[in-house]
Amino acid sequence: MASTTVEADLAAAHRSLEGLALGDAFGERWFRLFREPRQAYNEVRARRMPPEPVWNWTDDTAMARALQRVLDEHGEVEQDRLALFFALAFDADRARGYGHGMHMLLPELLISPGDWRTLAPQLFEGGSLGNGAAMRVAPLGARFRRDVDHAAEQAALQAEVTHAHPAGIAGAVAVAVAAALAVRGAFTLDEVVARTPAGPVRDGLARAAEVPFDTEAWRAADLLGNGQRIRADDTVPFALWTAARHPDDLEAALWATAEGFGDVDTTCAIAGGVVGAAVGVDGVPAEWLRRREPLN
Ligand SMILES: [Mg+2]
Repeated sequence: MASTTVEADLAAAHRSLEGLALGDAFGERWFRLFREPRQAYNEVRARRMPPEPVWNWTDDTAMARALQRVLDEHGEVEQDRLALFFALAFDADRARGYGHGMHMLLPELLISPGDWRTLAPQLFEGGSLGNGAAMRVAPLGARFRRDVDHAAEQAALQAEVTHAHPAGIAGAVAVAVAAALAVRGAFTLDEVVARTPAGPVRDGLARAAEVPFDTEAWRAADLLGNGQRIRADDTVPFALWTAARHPDDLEAALWATAEGFGDVDTTCAIAGGVVGAAVGVDGVPAEWLRRREPLN
């Protein structure tokens, strides 16, 4: 395989990770921790840049980086290694906003990474159907842009380590497929629907594909969910709808996603990872990039 091809794969993954981290850090600004909901609503509507000098990224980016390290090492998802890297990232900084399930699971995986096989399916009696496997996966999809089926398969493998429920896995497949298609200039919601396993995530995406792009973003979030329930089927359809609405404009995609509020770091991480995979982060205001916590 020509080295230039591999370099292009890695460049796509890098663009996506940069977009994901920017979305994550930008989206996190709109939580109540930083400002009251009414003020956040007004500032998003006015497109006013968050005033904090440093925009820290959260668990979405921490887990995305762990996944990229495994892919850099092995060229594919090696699940035991991934379990260890997720646990190490968690242990390095537990205050990155991880959900309840990860606080239960990841300390156990630090001791015995291979135990994900028994522990992940036991989370929440049937495995997590949360959005955690989707929020971290766009750079994987970008990297495997040349083979969308392979991207889907690898997305499912990385999901299983923490999110064993079929809906948690389907959310990850949908986002990886969207990112792979975005790099190819072929991202449509209909194509993502066609490649997502049956279930509530695919149903939500099919509904998203019917929402016209001249619909206000907050209204689309009302129809599709905004991640407030932290489920994949409540998160992925809206995040991919905004990404599909603004495929060439990362800044516009992130503002539109923020209008949905809800689990806004994660919806913005997903939209940012997909749009960033195609266009990178160079189009956003330079001040945004200066404020975002570095990835090194
Ligand atoms: Mg987060």
